[in-house]
Amino acid sequence: MGFDVIVVGAGLWGSACARHLAEMGAKVALVGPAEPENAATHDGVFASHYDQARITRRLDGSRDWARFADAAMRRYATLEAQGGQSFFYQVGALMAGPEYGAGSDYMRDTAAVAEVEGIAHEALKGRALAERFPFFAFPDGILGLFEKGGGWINPRAHVAAEIASGIAKGVTLVRDEVVQVLEGSDGVTVRCAGGEVLRGDKVVVASGAFSKASGLLPEPVPLKAYARTIAFVEIDEIEANRLKDMPSVVYFFPNGAGDCYILPPVRYPDGKTYLKIGGDPVDVELTTVAEMKEWFRSGGDAKAVSYMADQLFKLMPSLSSQGVTFGSCATSFTPQGNPLIYGQTDRVFALTGGNGAGAKCADEIGRLGALKVMGQALEGQGYTTSFLP
Ligand SMILES: Cc1cc2nc3c(=O)[nH]c(=O)nc-3n(C[C@H](O)[C@H](O)[C@H](O)COP(=O)(O)OP(=O)(O)OC[C@H]3O[C@@H](n4cnc5c(N)ncnc54)[C@H](O)[C@@H]3O)c2cc1C
Repeated sequence: MGFDVIVVGAGLWGSACARHLAEMGAKVALVGPAEPENAATHDGVFASHYDQARITRRLDGSRDWARFADAAMRRYATLEAQGGQSFFYQVGALMAGPEYGAGSDYMRDTAAVAEVEGIAHEALKGRALAERFPFFAFPDGILGLFEKGGGWINPRAHVAAEIASGIAKGVTLVRDEVVQVLEGSDGVTVRCAGGEVLRGDKVVVASGAFSKASGLLPEPVPLKAYARTIAFVEIDEIEANRLKDMPSVVYFFPNGAGDCYILPPVRYPDGKTYLKIGGDPVDVELTTVAEMKEWFRSGGDAKAVSYMADQLFKLMPSLSSQGVTFGSCATSFTPQGNPLIYGQTDRVFALTGGNGAGAKCADEIGRLGALKVMGQALEGQGYTTSFLP
């Protein structure tokens, strides 16, 4: 007998969708490879969650994204308990940017959404901002919105929690890459690279940026994938202790000159502690699967790293670092900036489009995907987006 639903992609969204489908009573297969041991020589697909930290916050310029995050964050503790994995670190999240003039739109939108949605936060500027976060040297005119309930999640541990919880509820995990999804009149056939063939009633393609790969969805999904470099600034124990009250930060530079995000001290599997900064100076689009794989294997762009490190040291002039390393990742954006949760046919569904913000709210997006596949309308779930391209 086949599965009710086969979920392609055991990443942040696919693992959450599979778990919710199982809770809704479906017989589910979750298909996707584990993280490669050596990215530089890996020939298969990659994921956008192979890291130790992603910022989590309700504060957002978009009401829908604020609500996705809120719904997911309310369930973190339950998921941690059910999945036997801690993944949430409540160190607070600070959104900072110009209060007026060029580049102030996002801060204004965020403050307005926070007001309407009742998101608990403090607004700080000038001396109050400097005293509260003495390790940052924000220029004059910067407004900070601080959400005490935010912080960061470990995306690997989040995926592990969803998978463990899903398996406990009956999900079958298949560690392989899918090479082809075929739809017939009586169901779907999913072929894996290792030769396994799975049969089911419906399929959900939740393969992140790789949802663009041919053979998975009947129609191309309108995602634009961009190369992203991440700089890891190593710090020693003394510095980590000095920065122990540092929150996660999203910072819009004065005069609309770009933005960056910064993770506070996080210990990585190599035993070292890093601050992480992202915010590429230029957007480089990755148009084919071959380009995406090549980019992930490349390990990032040294020029982007030096730009980002400069930004970090400008904001944290007293930062004492042991050196900078870097990595590569990809973010995928949709035409309207919304997650895509829709059926391309009655049996084949797309669940993708993280828009650089999909880690924190993965559990809610996965739940919405599960509802859609189970034939329920997403109107009435409290969101304004149609979830369509
Ligand atoms: C550098 C960087 C920083 C980010 N920072 C944040 C942040 O601070 N906060 C935040 O909320 N979000 C952040 N994001 C965004 C977030 O990580 C993504 O939105 C999220 O990973 C999307 O989840 P996903 O499941 O769609 O994709 P992924 O996490 O990429 O998972 C997709 C899965 O599909 C699998 N797959 C692909 N092809 C196949 C196939 N053919 N067969 C089977 N499996 C397949 C992959 O192995 C992978 O496991 C960041 C992203 C990047 C790149």
